[in-house]
Amino acid sequence: MHYKNLRKKMIEQQIKARGITNERLLDAFMQVERHLFVPPAAKHFAYNDSPLTIGQGQTISQPYIVAMMIDLLEVTKSDIVLEIGTGSGYQTALLAELAHQVYSIERISSLAEKAKKLLKELGYTNIKIQHDDGSKGWIPESDAEEDVKFDAIIVSAAAPSIPEGLLRQLKEGGRLVIPVGDKFFQELLLVRKENGKIKKENHGGCQFVPLIGKQAWKE
Ligand code: SAM
Repeated sequence: MHYKNLRKKMIEQQIKARGITNERLLDAFMQVERHLFVPPAAKHFAYNDSPLTIGQGQTISQPYIVAMMIDLLEVTKSDIVLEIGTGSGYQTALLAELAHQVYSIERISSLAEKAKKLLKELGYTNIKIQHDDGSKGWIPESDAEEDVKFDAIIVSAAAPSIPEGLLRQLKEGGRLVIPVGDKFFQELLLVRKENGKIKKENHGGCQFVPLIGKQAWKE
């Protein structure tokens, strides 16, 4: 009950108050119990207006940032979504509430395994998690998946540029949300594929952990 009240307050004061009105998205935030996705010592802060560490030098993003990014994606019930950066699995669960199927890739194996176990325990059956470098896109696990393309792609770590592999896997009419920039300054981009062309919208400055792998920043 205590956490339910904190969740309601988080939605009212951090998400709705900042202008997000998408009812399906707000319902998903009510459904997913954020305190289950943070380390035990951080449970009391799970609904705070801030990111939290989840181990391995990684973070679960601030609730409002997660809400804003998913809102930009315009996820529908029939969508197939790709997420790069599973992390704790919190955003994966929100996407699974909203979409038909979620594919998620995490670079750090211990985080991928932990998220996979928790999401299974919570009963999600529409999530597939891969341990890999997500900037290459989803590598098919069977012949049936060969041509997998996505209605929406969300990247939760910052890249120096938009990875080509992700643009290739975006369907016509698809949306991609990604923080792009360097260690000091990043912009949140919404990319749409329309008539084969890529259109970019800038949604302001942001700060994310870097994408690890081939598409990483040069130190
Ligand atoms: N959305 C996550 C959540 O709800 O907990 C938080 C994501 S955290 C800000 C970024 C995640 O991206 C980290 O878990 C990190 O290990 C992962 N990551 C970084 N580079 C990656 C890559 N190349 N491919 C896949 N995951 C990557």
